[in-house]
Amino acid sequence: MFDYDFPLNINDLLYRARDLFSKREVVTRYPEGVHRYTYGDFYGRVCQLAHALDQLGLKKGEKVGSFAWNTFRHLELYFALPCTERILHTVNIRIPQEHFVHTINKAEDRFLFVDEDLVPIIERVQDRLETVEGYIVMSPSGRLPQTSLRSVYDYEELLAGQDEDYPFPEFIDEKTTALMCFTSATTGLPKGVEYTHRGVVLHTLAISLPDAANMSEKMTLLLVVPMFHVLSWGCPFACTMVGAKQVFPGPQPTPGDLARLIQDERVTHTAGVPTVWLALLDEIKLGKYDFSSLQEVLVGGSAPPRSLMEAYEEHGIPMVHAYGMTEAYPVVLVSRLKSYLEDLSREEQYYYRMKQGLLMPLLRGKVVGESGREVAHDGKELGELWLRGPWIARGYYREEEKTRETFGDGWYHTGDVVSIDQEGYIQIADRTKDLIKSGGEWISSVELENAIMAHPAVREAVVIAASHPKWNERPLACAVLKEGEDPRGKKKEIKEMLSQKFPSWWLPDDVVFVEEIPKTSVGKFDKKELRKKFGDYYMGK
Ligand code: ADP
Repeated sequence: MFDYDFPLNINDLLYRARDLFSKREVVTRYPEGVHRYTYGDFYGRVCQLAHALDQLGLKKGEKVGSFAWNTFRHLELYFALPCTERILHTVNIRIPQEHFVHTINKAEDRFLFVDEDLVPIIERVQDRLETVEGYIVMSPSGRLPQTSLRSVYDYEELLAGQDEDYPFPEFIDEKTTALMCFTSATTGLPKGVEYTHRGVVLHTLAISLPDAANMSEKMTLLLVVPMFHVLSWGCPFACTMVGAKQVFPGPQPTPGDLARLIQDERVTHTAGVPTVWLALLDEIKLGKYDFSSLQEVLVGGSAPPRSLMEAYEEHGIPMVHAYGMTEAYPVVLVSRLKSYLEDLSREEQYYYRMKQGLLMPLLRGKVVGESGREVAHDGKELGELWLRGPWIARGYYREEEKTRETFGDGWYHTGDVVSIDQEGYIQIADRTKDLIKSGGEWISSVELENAIMAHPAVREAVVIAASHPKWNERPLACAVLKEGEDPRGKKKEIKEMLSQKFPSWWLPDDVVFVEEIPKTSVGKFDKKELRKKFGDYYMGK
């Protein structure tokens, strides 16, 4: 067989749901209504899909793209492809057209599974997709829409009449690629990362642990993090393995849709980026929906402001902070308090809870300072976080130079500048490219942003590095005020508030009020856009 005892295969996560949790539900919101079925039904359809893939002539190791929202059909693709030794490439539907066309061509996807409402986007680019031979439309009605796509199939028709069982391979070499995802490229084109069966299984086990996402059959998880971006943080695999009820928000979900799903499906846990929770907070405050089932919210992808964590806590919903990236399947750090830290004062607890957290089991990390040596574990000294481990990628797909730059010495250089304290809690000060270097000293934009967002009139804020004739760079704050707030006097108040907490040279020289902070494809603040607009703000001053 293989030169090791027993391979780690995604198939075994699937079989567990079939054998033990066939009655647990998978629910999807569509604008037309809610779809629900059980893991028992799910297994039958994964088998049908596997037969359909055979009929399409898809060979082992070949790739298929998905261009889709979080739905049960996407979940079927998550399993049917890897479990039959093919590869699912989840295409990010929110990145610029140039970028996603590049990712589909680079991955050499042979087929593309497309949600019905996204068909017009693909119609516009089909002539530029070099390797795609056919399109499979996933429509909630189960009927093929009018489309100019060539070689088009209807998902439901492909499945209809297929056998609900399938002769999956007994073992798959665990080093086989199962899925693939591209980074959402803040500079240049997205880079591809391959995920192996082994990496996915170990990541699934690790995130399920109590001090990570604490996964259990008793849980109902609303998967807000997109399935088209870093495997929805691994939640689809973990839920299936433990038999948790999964709730998918479907196409174009609004905060109101999420609120209704939490109420109607009695959601106990959910996971997403801070901007989503900021928007949902308005719904919680309105008091229109019942959030009493919600036990915990996992927040990550960018640093949540403390004011956000506190606001949720006031409503009895604890937030747990996590950190990761495309190159790491994605979870690397989770911030839960160690038992003996629970005795600390609320203020001291927040000191830890605001940090990105402790390394997951099986991962190795080190924080390397400018001198090339590891920094002191004092929570102060800054260095770059380097990682290696069973679910840390070892390179970018067919990108030799970029692989050498980022993974050359066997460690993945994250590009995140962090500190590590005596307890081992790691805190991100910035991404290397977002750090502000004023007169030769580093200023952390993340800390300033957090403090500004604690002002009661501020809805969102970022701090960027703006060029400065004397200091090289100085921090500039860009803030969005809450509706109805009068900007007069607010600059002064914000600056005064910051001066209580930070040394004077850290303070932004100015605060500009903007209508909106641009967001990236996955809902993170897009500093790049603001740097373009305000990068020279201080030059004439
Ligand atoms: P991309 O690099 O494609 O934007 P990722 O989702 O892979 O997308 O982003 C990973 C980066 O996001 C990390 O390197 C880090 O800079 C940032 N990040 C992730 N989680 C957090 C967090 N909890 N706090 C601060 N930054 C975070």
